[in-house]
Amino acid sequence: MREEAVPTADLNTSVQFIKGIGVQRAKSLGKLNICTLRDLISYFPRAYEDRTLTKRISDLQPGELACVEAMVTSPPTLSRIRKGLELVKLRAVDDSGALDVTFFNQAWLKNSLKAGETYVFYGKAEGNLLRRQMANPVVEPADRREQTGRIVPVYPLTAGVSRLLLSRSIRQGLDACGDILPDILPEGVRQAYQLCHAGFAYENIHFPASPEALDLSRRRLAFEELFLFTIGLRRLRSRRDEVRTTPFEGVDMASFYAALPFTLTAAQKRCVEEALGDMRSGRPMNRLCQGDVGSGKTMVAAASVYFCVKNSRQAALMAPTEILARQHYDGLSPLLERLGVRCALLTGSMTPKTKRTLSAQLAAGEIDFIIGTHALISGGVDYQRLGLVVTDEQHRFGVGQRAALASKGDSPHMLVMSATPIPRTLALILYGDLDVSVIDELPPGRQHIGTSAVSGGYRPRLYAFLRRQVEEGRQCYVVCPEITESEDGDDGRKAVMQYAEALRAEVFPDLRVAFVHGKLKAKEKEAVMSAFAAGETDILVSTTVIEVGVDVPNATVMVVENAERFGLSQLHQLRGRVGRGIHKSYCILISDSKNEDTRQRLRVMTQTADGFKIAEEDLRLRGPGDFFGLRQHGLPGLRVADLGCDAALLKEAQAAADALLAQDGDLVSCPAVAARVSELFHQSADALN
Ligand code: ADP
Ligand code: MG
Repeated sequence: MREEAVPTADLNTSVQFIKGIGVQRAKSLGKLNICTLRDLISYFPRAYEDRTLTKRISDLQPGELACVEAMVTSPPTLSRIRKGLELVKLRAVDDSGALDVTFFNQAWLKNSLKAGETYVFYGKAEGNLLRRQMANPVVEPADRREQTGRIVPVYPLTAGVSRLLLSRSIRQGLDACGDILPDILPEGVRQAYQLCHAGFAYENIHFPASPEALDLSRRRLAFEELFLFTIGLRRLRSRRDEVRTTPFEGVDMASFYAALPFTLTAAQKRCVEEALGDMRSGRPMNRLCQGDVGSGKTMVAAASVYFCVKNSRQAALMAPTEILARQHYDGLSPLLERLGVRCALLTGSMTPKTKRTLSAQLAAGEIDFIIGTHALISGGVDYQRLGLVVTDEQHRFGVGQRAALASKGDSPHMLVMSATPIPRTLALILYGDLDVSVIDELPPGRQHIGTSAVSGGYRPRLYAFLRRQVEEGRQCYVVCPEITESEDGDDGRKAVMQYAEALRAEVFPDLRVAFVHGKLKAKEKEAVMSAFAAGETDILVSTTVIEVGVDVPNATVMVVENAERFGLSQLHQLRGRVGRGIHKSYCILISDSKNEDTRQRLRVMTQTADGFKIAEEDLRLRGPGDFFGLRQHGLPGLRVADLGCDAALLKEAQAAADALLAQDGDLVSCPAVAARVSELFHQSADALN
């Protein structure tokens, strides 16, 4: 039937025109955002199930997953145990023995499975050596096997799209592509890195002929992805390098340094130098300043702001939350005002009138430095001569939002600060469009935060400990995870409020207990946080809204409930909320999880305080997943490549990309690569232009 298939080259054909799919199925596939032939064949499995093991019934070991080929001996029976529970039972035999099979709530099988016919059953063997059983196995006719006897892909699915439907559609899609899927990798690269052809790769990523074929395919597709990704990033960057701005003049920074209550660390100084150097270069700065919690990133920002304002340009600092914005304002404005920098705060919860006034002052150049939230990039805000944009806690903002703020000025300098420690190799790919400065040193005198991982049984002792801390004048955080209870859309509110209520009523009736969660109005949150910062609250129960940046030096204990629900890097951020003053501080992680991996993860927290190490460990144990949120950064997500595991492959792909670009910067020799990169980077390129 190949002759009738759609032309091989056009992967943009809508799936509804693919033979065997049609309008109805196309509609279902649309729910998975599968619209074109390319979408379809690029809808990669997220895992595989090896269903190749086939056994005789008598050889089945209890607990083992296997296929058996057996004949149904008599018509299956259907019984209704109680409302909502239907059982279909049958017995099947091969030449070695008998197998009792039960299906729950699949009443139709009673009529579709016929006595005397041979089927393959794939499932977990149960029972004992005398009576072998399987519950809810996959079943299909022995002469028409699709789902057994092979490595079966596991796809992300959605209501109305079954695994089988998807699998059959992909089969149709691959057949429609014919034998030759366009191989966009240059042939030289394919050979040099020993990569298989595209056709083989697409076929075997969906229908692996063997584990080896699957490995080869995955490697090829991941390589291609990383290769295109690298080329895209390099191009974004070279486009950026073409932009020219008026270089900033040198400024005597001595009065700035003299105004600080401390001396900057060597690492801070280096980052400041790098940022100032960028601003003097005549090209827009695009720098990531990365440093562990407490490493003092704010001062790097402050120095850059001072430098910018002394060059008669305005500076803006955007923080992800109102609390953080206010804290930056409270911390920075006294220092900078003293140096003649006119500072202001702009947040979403301010009245329209205040916002209008501020906006007018910004447009008139009466404000030098504005600190705020997303409100800074809203339509109504105009700047007179915006020269520098600093964004704090980068992972909460996307490329698009940074770009929106940049568009408020004429190619302003961009400084991005992040406390998410990223292993070096990955920083390159994630922030491939940025230069990176690392603050790899903490200010002197930082104390070690005693960290322990305990089970719930420890609570009484923990509460006694908290009480002693409060008696000594200290304050404590208790963080509960955000629990999404789908019914009422409650996200941790209940957990936090109930917990706080219980603490207040039963454990600390005489102490001041408050709570804060993401659903409180900005003003209410603000009030709770300010009260805590002012020492008017002893114990603050919270969701992770306090995760980023908040600075209360008198807080000495961080308790995390259900610690297993948090990523290590998140726990590290939470822990960074204490130990910010002169008092000895503690972090207590509570978890009743018995899972060995989880316990190992929590142990890592007790063993190291190094954010980079923790991030690496997180990556190793959890995989990158949405931890790095590529999509959130506005960069094309990686579908096959796994940044955690494919570091070596990444190096190879980068080398190949760089070699190609060195030879043929405009990709004249491989238009297919150029076209694909443009497509992939369409969105982020727009955002950056
Ligand atoms: P982060 O990198 O987490 O944003 P901050 O900028 O909030 O860190 O700094 C953490 C704390 O350390 C603040 O209280 C700040 O005043 C203080 N700090 C920053 N730099 C120094 C330094 N060089 N010496 C001493 N304290 C410093
Ligand atoms: Mg900070």
